[in-house]
Amino acid sequence: MKNIIVKIIIKYGLPLLLVGLTVKATADVDGVRVWQSPTNTRLVFDLSQPHQHKIFILDKPYRLVIDLAGSPQFKPAINKVELDSTLVTNLRTGRQKNNDLRMVFSLRGDVDPKSSILPPNKIYPYHRLVVDLYEKDIAVIEPAKAVTTVADKIAHNKRDIIVAIDAGHGGEDPGAVGYRRTKEKHVVLKIAKKLARLLEAEPGYKPYLTRTGDYYIPLRERTRKARDANADLFISIHADAFSNSQAHGSSVFVLSERGASSEEARYLAEKENEADLVGGVSLGDKDDHVAMTLLDLSMTATRGSSLAVGKSILKRMDKISRLHKKHVGEAAFMVLKAPDIPALLIETGFISNPGEAKKLATSSYQNKMAREIFKGLTEYFDDEPPEGSYVAWKKGGSGIATSNSIPTRSPRNYTIRRGDTLSHIAKRHKVSVADIRRLNGIKNNRIQVGQKIKLPAS
Ligand SMILES: [Zn+2]
Repeated sequence: MKNIIVKIIIKYGLPLLLVGLTVKATADVDGVRVWQSPTNTRLVFDLSQPHQHKIFILDKPYRLVIDLAGSPQFKPAINKVELDSTLVTNLRTGRQKNNDLRMVFSLRGDVDPKSSILPPNKIYPYHRLVVDLYEKDIAVIEPAKAVTTVADKIAHNKRDIIVAIDAGHGGEDPGAVGYRRTKEKHVVLKIAKKLARLLEAEPGYKPYLTRTGDYYIPLRERTRKARDANADLFISIHADAFSNSQAHGSSVFVLSERGASSEEARYLAEKENEADLVGGVSLGDKDDHVAMTLLDLSMTATRGSSLAVGKSILKRMDKISRLHKKHVGEAAFMVLKAPDIPALLIETGFISNPGEAKKLATSSYQNKMAREIFKGLTEYFDDEPPEGSYVAWKKGGSGIATSNSIPTRSPRNYTIRRGDTLSHIAKRHKVSVADIRRLNGIKNNRIQVGQKIKLPAS
């Protein structure tokens, strides 16, 4: 059999590197991975070539059968395929009469299988057959689904502030891989869970984790989940690589439609936006343009809040790690396209930096990072509690008035948001512009987004 040499250029946080690989002309199965999410089981097969396949389910007991035409070899060691805590209990292979490869997976229950073939990309330089198994007759229980509806929350009057924490990457998509093969997906899930625990313990807050284990969620799906959970804030946590291994420190980003705040921000956003290709989303899932335009319009309203909470967190992170940039960065991160939720992407450090990768892998540093993010965001919400929340009620005055609420008699703090003018603020809080000016020593009408001012008692 004639071998062909495939040259793959890997331009992934490293100088250009040429790797020679020998690929057989037959379609062999070079690898198998099984990922379990709360909603489905994903089987991924690395194929040396795209291939004809046939999939069906047998019952008594339930089995998934995949036939690959031709005479492909099954190369992975079967006992090395990780099946723990998945829907699959056993895997065996065999040959059909025509020499087709047959793979049989024993299952815990009945499923609907869906398959697609993904083209090669920078991380996976071969074709991948992806088979998603959706369990039948099983009510899917989303983990930590916190709340009911917005109306309920407001009626409840002392509702929790819901923080959606999004651990980047997962499953097929390892994110950046750093020193000693430390994977971004594992580090950020640990930080996300630690942050969730802190919020769980804090009165007035409720965390919602978009990802709870090692599986991939499409970028669009992450903010959709946050919306469904009625989140007040969306935080996507990362620890990426940069082409320069010296790069270090943490940074905070918000969405920008008008271009990136720096070359680095643009580079990071481009890399993040490739996650769907790596993670295994078929290219058919394209957004419709009208919906996107509407999304972009409503998003400008949340931009000010995103920046303000970003600044508050950045200030806190400054205490434990040298900041990569002193300002909140901006770029077109797809994962931040949430229509009405302030959204941030936090780079907790650069896993491409050996020193930082080592630190990020330790539990103590992950704790510190989670704690500073926690402090930054709770400080923001102390200043800007959402209406009807427990935090607003505790602060008094800003919440919806109830017999329990304490009217304010002393000045209140206020952080300037995008679109604010002094007269708007004055009108909204039933105070005079002159009083605001006097209290804050403001001589003209000039205010800045993120600026903290005091409001006179109304
Ligand atoms: Zn990332």
